[in-house]
Amino acid sequence: MPVEHLRVSTKQRRQIVDITSQVAAIVTGAGVTEGLACISAPHCTCAIYVNENESGLVSDTLDIIAQISETADWQHDRIDDNAAAHLAASIIGSSVVLPVVGGQLELGTWQRIMLAELDGPRNRRVTVTILSG
Ligand code: ZN
Repeated sequence: MPVEHLRVSTKQRRQIVDITSQVAAIVTGAGVTEGLACISAPHCTCAIYVNENESGLVSDTLDIIAQISETADWQHDRIDDNAAAHLAASIIGSSVVLPVVGGQLELGTWQRIMLAELDGPRNRRVTVTILSG
């Protein structure tokens, strides 16, 4: 079962990074023809999702994260002042699973794999685990 890691260095407190090409290269190099690829981030304040990498939508995504996460006196802020980042990460999720078909990730025309940094800047790790079908 091939397992590989990516490293992503984010530059801003909240930032969305398209990691599709790095993940696709790992999948292509794994030699698995049919199966599943799990793309996961072992962190509590960043997230992984699949959607379009269109600049307006990326901006909208950052806006809605801000709207849903900065509207209350969160209890976790008493510990390390980043409850909003944890909450957004929980809502979005820390992993996605995608089919591998014909040796490649199966994505829709406009689908991209995105890492959402919610409490940066930080150095993030992404694990790509590929299961042969
Ligand atoms: Zn925290």
